[in-house]
Amino acid sequence: MNNNSKVLALKYRPQNFDDLIGQEVVAETIKNSIKADKIPNAYLFTGIRGVGKTTIARIVAKALNCTNGYENRCKIKCENCDAIASSSHIDVLEIDAASKTGVDDVRDLIEFSRYGPTSSKYKIFIIDEVHMLSKQAFNALLKTLEEPPEYLKFIFATTEIKKIPITVLSRCQRFDLSRIKSSELFEYIKKIKDKENGKVSDEALRLIVKISEGSVRDALSLLDRGLLTLDNNKELDLDLAQNIFGYFDKSQLIDLFKLILKGDEKKVIEIYRKIYDQGIEPKVFINDFLELVYYFKNINSLTLESTNFSLNDDEFSKIKKISTDIPNEVLILFWQFTIKTINELDIVSNQNLSIEMFLVRLMYLSSLKLKNELKTHTNLSDVKEMIDTTPEIKKDIVDQIKNITQEKKIKIEAEDKKDIDSTKIINSLDELIEVCNENKEMKLKYELEKNVNLVSFEKNRMEISFNEKLDKNFVKDLSLKFFEWTGERWIITFSKTKGEISIKEQEQNKKNELLNKTKSTEFYKEILKKFTDANLTDVILKNKEEN
Ligand SMILES: [Zn+2]
Repeated sequence: MNNNSKVLALKYRPQNFDDLIGQEVVAETIKNSIKADKIPNAYLFTGIRGVGKTTIARIVAKALNCTNGYENRCKIKCENCDAIASSSHIDVLEIDAASKTGVDDVRDLIEFSRYGPTSSKYKIFIIDEVHMLSKQAFNALLKTLEEPPEYLKFIFATTEIKKIPITVLSRCQRFDLSRIKSSELFEYIKKIKDKENGKVSDEALRLIVKISEGSVRDALSLLDRGLLTLDNNKELDLDLAQNIFGYFDKSQLIDLFKLILKGDEKKVIEIYRKIYDQGIEPKVFINDFLELVYYFKNINSLTLESTNFSLNDDEFSKIKKISTDIPNEVLILFWQFTIKTINELDIVSNQNLSIEMFLVRLMYLSSLKLKNELKTHTNLSDVKEMIDTTPEIKKDIVDQIKNITQEKKIKIEAEDKKDIDSTKIINSLDELIEVCNENKEMKLKYELEKNVNLVSFEKNRMEISFNEKLDKNFVKDLSLKFFEWTGERWIITFSKTKGEISIKEQEQNKKNELLNKTKSTEFYKEILKKFTDANLTDVILKNKEEN
């Protein structure tokens, strides 16, 4: 940051409560407490960099010490307010704890506080980045903080509230300054751009808002830099702004993510190439992508304010909305696969192409591409075609997962031996149902027993007819499982032939037969004579031989 870029931020630094943007609630609370003469011994302002912590600290100091008193405090300038604004007031001491962390510094402060104010109502200590103080310094401070003289007030500011001892925290009135909302920040810098007669397009302003991530100071610095680089009469448009700020727009990445989930290969590659053409290094891209996966996975446990992550509120709500439709497993898989690709980038010669392949593989990894295609294929021949290609896709997924978790092992093993231990031979529908049972695929088992009529069953081929209750994903699910269990591709075809009655029906028929047989026995007739209202509803066999 050069000196020039600070100009706007200083020029438009808020001088009173009304100038503040995005902190109305905090301002109102402070004003009311001063009016009611309930001034705390210590104020504590917390929030991310550039939201105005030290600015508001000075505004509070002015409100307390204005030459004209609080009710008539100056709108324009007075001796005290001027001095406070330029950090030169004799009774208002500003220190930056980042540079003065020692106990001696705090002792100096305390020494200074022994005597009342010289030219104003209060002696005020403003301590910026107060969390940087050492433990001993905090302890020294605490004594004064517990019982300060009437004329002494503390104003603390920090970006890291958690590093402040609870003993100190409990003596402060705490104010959380929120990140400035994108829309507010946009309006604000637009106003300033107009005041400065700058030519900046709205899109470029929006980019500035995005990059500054809720920090007014950053937004003004960027605007400053943008205006300074402009040649006469030229406008700062989006392209130029992206160029100047070397910025890679995260919302592009969110769009890309959405398209990956949709399986839109053409558009995904198109967007990636556009990003690449902006001069974004593949490594930068993939690290940003990884970060984005993290946000998608955890967005529900995050709030815009609670963390220092780098999204603006538009992006935040966009991610939140999209993430509800993405299964956790997909995101975890994405995460692992992205990390793997990051490691690989060092050993490939063309990183750019690796990223393109990475994106394509992600689409298959999410398997959503597959689902979409199944949905749109309605007639039988198309479905069959899908089934034929399905195991390929599944194999790809399996391989990718294995690559991640057991890379070394796979390298040692010969490719074709990989699954030998776990593969099964399935010779009949009954065996298939048994395998479903073993693998806890109860949904498939249910469908097979209930809604499928077998026409023929031979090696790697199964012909069925089915009733209308059959789950629409049945064929796809079964194909994937067939491949997983047998290591081979199976073709499942539909037939107009009625096929065998379903297994459940077969069982019911057997049972009926058995019931009838039992009812015709002499034993049963004897029972009926004794219990006239008895009715046989079920027969349980002791063992199979009795059948
Ligand atoms: Zn004043």
